[in-house]
Amino acid sequence: GVEVSSAEEAVRTRGSAAATIFSRVIDRSVPADIIHEDEKCLAFRDVSPQAPVHFLVIPRVPIPRLSEATDEDAELLGHLLVVAKNVAKQESLDEGYRVVINDGKHGAQSVYHLHIHVLGGRQMAWPPG
Ligand code: C5P
Repeated sequence: GVEVSSAEEAVRTRGSAAATIFSRVIDRSVPADIIHEDEKCLAFRDVSPQAPVHFLVIPRVPIPRLSEATDEDAELLGHLLVVAKNVAKQESLDEGYRVVINDGKHGAQSVYHLHIHVLGGRQMAWPPG
């Protein structure tokens, strides 16, 4: 079965990272449209979608941002990308999609719990804003 350890416990175990709104998504204390869940991560639809399909993949452990991930997080980071790819397929994004991680101020990160954005269902442009 899927092991659901509390976000608060994860914060304690890791010894860092303030709880964010995403801890409450993990705890189910705020509602979210969860489209994938396993022992390491969740994927849910972004509440403010920027494309016809826009979902986030987040680890259960609250790593604040990509730049604070460590070598020990390598397997988890790989898992998040594989889940992003699998859920994109589940969402029928057969023409491709955009994968984004915003880090810090210049990255326009707003929630300090690491998350991968997956956007699809329309033509993307490059460069991004
Ligand atoms: O990368 P950044 O930190 O800016 O992205 C945070 C994302 O989390 C935003 O796209 C926002 O719409 C989304 N969000 C959400 N559910 C919440 C709070 C924020 O999907 N409860």
